[in-house]
Amino acid sequence: MKKDDCIFCKIANGEIPSRTVYEDEKFRVILDLGPATKGHALILPKEHADNLFELPEEIAAEVLPVAKKVADKIKANLHCDGLNLVQNNGEIAGQTVMHFHMHMIPRYENDGQKILWKPGEPSSEELDATLKQILQA
Ligand code: 5GP
Ligand code: ZN
Repeated sequence: MKKDDCIFCKIANGEIPSRTVYEDEKFRVILDLGPATKGHALILPKEHADNLFELPEEIAAEVLPVAKKVADKIKANLHCDGLNLVQNNGEIAGQTVMHFHMHMIPRYENDGQKILWKPGEPSSEELDATLKQILQA
């Protein structure tokens, strides 16, 4: 379903023009207007879902095959040295547009970007407790 006040719904469904690098029945992949690096693209499902938690499993299963196709094309034609897939869910995680999207960020030697986190140092007991918490019914 499309959401009336959602800009990515409008872009994904072609109501607002975009620089489209890939399109099929269920997805549109566009160039990000504020790219982290040259070729930064966004995979947009045409069906609205706020985020990964809301995304139907069958659409989720088709995101990575799209990413693979576009990654190969970007690598072949932009000659990037690497590529980050980044996907933010919720404001706390840095999501600013509340329509599921996956970032494809080509990486180049000396591109000046840093997509990293500060590693924690949990004890073995803390890791066990986290595992137990995740696996509970
Ligand atoms: P988020 O922070 O939600 O994970 O990422 C949103 C991304 O969408 C940002 O990288 C931003 O530059 C991009 N963006 C926001 N509005 C538009 C738009 O209207 N067109 C395009 N192509 N990208 C947009
Ligand atoms: Zn939407």
